Amino acid sequence: MPLVNAKEMLTKAKAGHYAVGQFNINNLEWTKAILLTAQEMNSPVILGVSEGAGKYMCGYNTVVGMVEGMLETLNITVPVALHLDHGSYEGAKACIEAGFSSIMFDGSHYPIDENIAKTKELVAICEEKGLSIEAEVGSIGGEEDGVVGAGECADPDECKMIADLGVTMLAAGIGNIHGKYPENWAGLSFETLAAVQEKTGTMPLVLHGGTGIPADMIKKAISLGVSKINVNTECQLAFQEATRKYIEEGKDLQGKGFDPRKLLAPGVEAIKATVREKIELFGSANKA
Ligand SMILES: [Zn+2]
Repeated sequence: MPLVNAKEMLTKAKAGHYAVGQFNINNLEWTKAILLTAQEMNSPVILGVSEGAGKYMCGYNTVVGMVEGMLETLNITVPVALHLDHGSYEGAKACIEAGFSSIMFDGSHYPIDENIAKTKELVAICEEKGLSIEAEVGSIGGEEDGVVGAGECADPDECKMIADLGVTMLAAGIGNIHGKYPENWAGLSFETLAAVQEKTGTMPLVLHGGTGIPADMIKKAISLGVSKINVNTECQLAFQEATRKYIEEGKDLQGKGFDPRKLLAPGVEAIKATVREKIELFGSANKA
């Protein structure tokens, strides 16, 4: 099945009170592990690509070629969206050109007027080309490609303004942050989430920084209108832990254990296990 945009899968998720996972990719192993797991669990899935990861993978054209090749060769029949994560204005345009099926324009660091003007322009292009588009209001804390924010809460009225521009989905800051959560983290602000949901109605809401948010908070967030949850760091930690174990046990020194196809295999299995666990928690299994 060719790439699809994220609109239909998220509309269904919002109506069905579950969430679709966005799993960020870094290379071939990541992509293959996520696609195979989504297929195995009969779940829709969103592959996230940050601008940094896009550069690392030799540019957006390479990413589109790799993902489309896998969809065909691995016989993937579940809906898959290829989505730019935290795109700049220029990055969004480049991904639309390269064949992504979905983009996020992160204008949260612009004054609201400028965020609105740029979002409007990109909404029109995405509408014409059939892509879905995510906007962000209220910066999400933690590190985003080198920029560290504190995890502020979005203004529900600003959320309504941006939602009314015709975006497909809206990321609203509700105290969530990227990367690992600090010991003294105050938790998600469900009051903010409820207020945003009330103002934006059927708009699918997006929760960034899904790594390490306790399962009960995830479930509550889904019940309050979150339909897309971004997972990135958790797959990286799972990969790192499994790879470290392989090397520490000296397996790379035994036989052909140095072969990258063997060396990276435990990490791939660890990513699959993480994705499986998230799909179960988010409730998107068998919703393809
Ligand atoms: Zn994010």
